[in-house]
Amino acid sequence: MRKPFIAGNWKMNMTAESGTALIKELRPLVKEAKCEVALCVPAILIPAMVKAAKGSRIKIGAENVHWAEKGAYTGEISVNMLKEYGVKYVIIGHSERRQYFGETDETVNKRTLAALAGGLTPIVCVGETLKERESGKTNDVLDRQLTEGLKGVEDLTKLVIAYEPVWAIGTGKTATDEQAQETIAYIRKKLSKLFSRKEANRVRIQYGGSMNAKNCKGLMAQPDIDGGLIGGASLTTDFACIVNFDK
Ligand code: PEP
Repeated sequence: MRKPFIAGNWKMNMTAESGTALIKELRPLVKEAKCEVALCVPAILIPAMVKAAKGSRIKIGAENVHWAEKGAYTGEISVNMLKEYGVKYVIIGHSERRQYFGETDETVNKRTLAALAGGLTPIVCVGETLKERESGKTNDVLDRQLTEGLKGVEDLTKLVIAYEPVWAIGTGKTATDEQAQETIAYIRKKLSKLFSRKEANRVRIQYGGSMNAKNCKGLMAQPDIDGGLIGGASLTTDFACIVNFDK
């Protein structure tokens, strides 16, 4: 049984003050949640958000991590720095990192291996652009991102995959339930070839791309969709509606 996992991605939104206020509102709303719940927040907010979420169902994650243990990497954050504050999850290879900050499958791989080695749970993002989907290249793109990004991973079940079609992120355009299910089933099939069928059946795969309080039920009802990575809707109490998708 794969336990559903709903994670928010605050991106470069929220401050310590607004984030603390939101978590205070969310705490009672997600108290009865059956799924795992996380909010991935900007590094500078981690200490304050860990404090705000203490004793609640909400775990705090990061939005990126560097692969080196330490050293001359101005502006970067290491696995140990995150762990020092009790961080459990880290988003890796988000399409915005790939698009604006030169993230490649190779750097995704390095970050993923470092996070796993340090005991963090990476949420590894994959997904195609609109141009790639329209030219029939979705599966090729996913094949490449999964093969290169997960090279050397020893236990697939220690990470989470987020399938995020780039054309659906922050656009209000969601993949239909069928599109999301079909593509995530393809990802699982590919993972069973790269790893084993057993691991592929156990790894959790989230859908991300304008998931909201209205469309979450249909998406979460799909057999291969195990959760959501939520951008915009994680900035308000709508996030609690998604967490409570099964109510
Ligand atoms: C995301 O950035 O991971 C995301 C899914 O954003 P949104 O929900 O806003 O589309």
